[in-house]
Amino acid sequence: MRDTGLSSELLQWYDAHAREMPWRVAPGDRAVGEVPDPYRVWLSEVMLQQTTVAAVKKYFLRFTTLWPTVADLAAAEDADVMGEWAGLGYYARARNLLKCARVVVGDHGGCFPDTREGLLSLPGIGPYTAAAIASIAFDRPETVVDGNVERVMARLHDIHTPLPAAKPELTERAAALTPGCRPGDYAQAVMDLGATICMPKSPACGICPWMHACSARAAGTQAELPKKTPKQAKPTRFGIAYIARRADGAWLLERRPDKGLLGGMLGWPGSDWGESPAEAPPLQANWHDPSTEVRHTFTHFHLRLSLRLAEVPATTQASSGHFVPAHDFRSSDLPTVMRKAFELARTAFPLK
Ligand code: SF4
Repeated sequence: MRDTGLSSELLQWYDAHAREMPWRVAPGDRAVGEVPDPYRVWLSEVMLQQTTVAAVKKYFLRFTTLWPTVADLAAAEDADVMGEWAGLGYYARARNLLKCARVVVGDHGGCFPDTREGLLSLPGIGPYTAAAIASIAFDRPETVVDGNVERVMARLHDIHTPLPAAKPELTERAAALTPGCRPGDYAQAVMDLGATICMPKSPACGICPWMHACSARAAGTQAELPKKTPKQAKPTRFGIAYIARRADGAWLLERRPDKGLLGGMLGWPGSDWGESPAEAPPLQANWHDPSTEVRHTFTHFHLRLSLRLAEVPATTQASSGHFVPAHDFRSSDLPTVMRKAFELARTAFPLK
């Protein structure tokens, strides 16, 4: 049975305390008929996968300035979109973003499907994102469960089963609270509650709209919830990146294959990443080892990337990769690990 009392209380709180987001229609505006733009909701949801609100805002504003509609994005050059995505990580998202925009324009007349099932048929949209877009953009009563919502549900109901085993129960609890009226605002309200009041380390129970109903607060267990099954330690891989600059200032870069880690992104040529990679210089040069390395953590492993640096004559041609003229090179087009390598190279070796 749905608990409309709890959802009403939370919606009242949201009306007064909703966070401002560049992709969000504020509850007051929504009440007078303003509807969210599904393109902006979709773009924000894809960007927010595995990334914080604070990190996403700048990228969202940049994307919507460059490509204000899904048709604009669908018509964009792949390299431009990948370049603007650089630094956000999880680059498969950017490739799927373009695919999805093109399917929406090519197969759906530029309009996003307005149901969870329809949205699920689009590239790069999984169950969570489909539910979030259906709920936020189209006010469908879908259950939207992210990490914030899991934490709030675990505490509200004092559930001690560790994650991820607790997911089905937490989803069921969240579904039971999702109201038929204003489900889009409600979904955002639970997320806001988790992000601003029911925070991971120190929940502000004293100002929580659900304090009277919260079982964990009554039991004094809120700080230890949600419980999590300990993660396995990540392995460490090693690699070598080769940073070559020609005398005319051009940098040797390669576009990585579409499939795989950092797929489709620009990067420095290099070895495989493994336990003990073999040297794999992209051209003959007097490679200098600056005895320094980049450290970067991906979802499933830590990377320690050694550098090799070289200055080569202006006539040098690359057999793999391509030299990018200095005036076309923007380190901001590189994914974070490659940008870190560039920054280290600049300080470790007197490249101009
Ligand atoms: S009372 Fe405290 S623990 Fe319970 S939902 Fe509110 S902030 Fe979270």
